[in-house]
Amino acid sequence: MSENQRAAGIGASGLVLEEPLLWERGRPGRSGMSPPRPGVPAAALPPELAGSGPDWPDLSEPEVVRHYTRLSSWNFGVDTGLYPLGSCTMKYNPKINEKLAALPGFAGAHPLLPEEAVQGALRLIYELEGFLAEIAGLSAASLQPAAGAHGELCGMLMFSAWHRRRGGGRDKILIPDTAHGTNPASAAMCGFREVKLPLGPDGILEAGPVAELMDGQTAGIMVTNPNTLGLFESNLPAISRLVHERGGLVYADGANLNAIMGRVDLGKMGVDAAHFNLHKSMSTPHGGGGPGAGPVAVGKELAPFLPGPRVALRDGRYVWNRDPPLSIGRLHSFHGQFAVCLRAYAYILSLGPEIRTASGLAVLNANYVREKLRTAFDLPFGRRSLHECVFTDARQKKHGVTTLDLAKRLIDLGYHPPTIYFPLAVSGAMMIEPTETESREDLDAFVAAMLRMADEAEREPEVLHRAPIRSLAGRLDETAAARRPRLTGDMGVGHA
Ligand SMILES: *Cc1c(COP(=O)(O)O)cnc(C)c1O
Repeated sequence: MSENQRAAGIGASGLVLEEPLLWERGRPGRSGMSPPRPGVPAAALPPELAGSGPDWPDLSEPEVVRHYTRLSSWNFGVDTGLYPLGSCTMKYNPKINEKLAALPGFAGAHPLLPEEAVQGALRLIYELEGFLAEIAGLSAASLQPAAGAHGELCGMLMFSAWHRRRGGGRDKILIPDTAHGTNPASAAMCGFREVKLPLGPDGILEAGPVAELMDGQTAGIMVTNPNTLGLFESNLPAISRLVHERGGLVYADGANLNAIMGRVDLGKMGVDAAHFNLHKSMSTPHGGGGPGAGPVAVGKELAPFLPGPRVALRDGRYVWNRDPPLSIGRLHSFHGQFAVCLRAYAYILSLGPEIRTASGLAVLNANYVREKLRTAFDLPFGRRSLHECVFTDARQKKHGVTTLDLAKRLIDLGYHPPTIYFPLAVSGAMMIEPTETESREDLDAFVAAMLRMADEAEREPEVLHRAPIRSLAGRLDETAAARRPRLTGDMGVGHA
């Protein structure tokens, strides 16, 4: 038993599970199966195959099953408890949508099947594009981009193609300094230079700096609305007007759509293109590196440039329009992350206009937490938040307690930590996003844990410095764990 486990008394109310590595548990000759004896004499492997691969441990079937089942119970997710990770929107993923995505007619369909054989799948693509365009207040959409960043790339390629058709020569793009890192990266991949836009004192963009920077060399602007501080960009209509007057285009990063869906018309705010992160807003579990999807919706100007091929409806049949003339071409070997799109389709159909209830509750819950915590934690921006709120460690720092200490202590108190040290523009940020599905009782329990930590920071800061003490592992050297992961039984590698 580790020192941490002993200190915390883990096992007093449950089983103590010692979980060695498979290499430590294995015994030579143990096996999970007994293949029939071969009828031919054994031969040594040829030297080129005999190589020096990993020395796999020998284990029985129950040993392997128990090992992984126990590890899975050490995980924490939305199905375990409140998961306040901001900007990542781990939200409600109705289990029924998993079942729908697994229906054999969809799961078994091959993307190269002829149109007659996949009318249902084509209809789903066609209709979902329509739903997403409608939610954004735009005129068309493509499901091809495989993630948010891929959607941004799609948007920037379309900006570039649109400008080229009118003579080109624009190589800069305006990006606010709270933007997600993928924004400047996507712009750079399309040959644009990032011009940083400063935030106004309220934490949102103002038209003044845009007027100063938006010149004849600038292709447009990328805006996240609501922004990564969880604040609504209320000056966006004026900013869009300015950008359009000077020949530019407006891109909206829609990662935070769950705060505004069904309520805000991005098209009316002057947006020309926007991506959705279906894995953040529409029923695909996010995390663990699983597939997401980043469909892009566009206004009339950019619609001809969407990736192709496109599904069209002709005489009641769905057909592929393989070569739309102005299209930027394919962004995906087939038609996007179909199963992720399918979940989004089911999510939208099951909620219908109630989708605005989901966004309303997400905002209500974030503001509830924000109001309950503002007496104890520093709130750098006073405006009302949307779906998430950002605090800092400024008050706890006076007692030597940092954001990292608070995040680690929260593990002891039974919660996954919020997003920390992001956005970069806020020093010591803690970004809390409760999402729309948490009950008032669960929010109150989380608030109580946060307030308890604020109290501990004043009275016994050493508790926070030592945290976590109740988890199976204590505070890890995260840099070493990332740089020198221990992936085999070799105890010498990355073993602190
Ligand atoms: C997550 C996120 C992205 C990138 O989306 P991926 O799907 O992870 O590629 C871009 N912008 C913001 C604001 C995000 O939160």
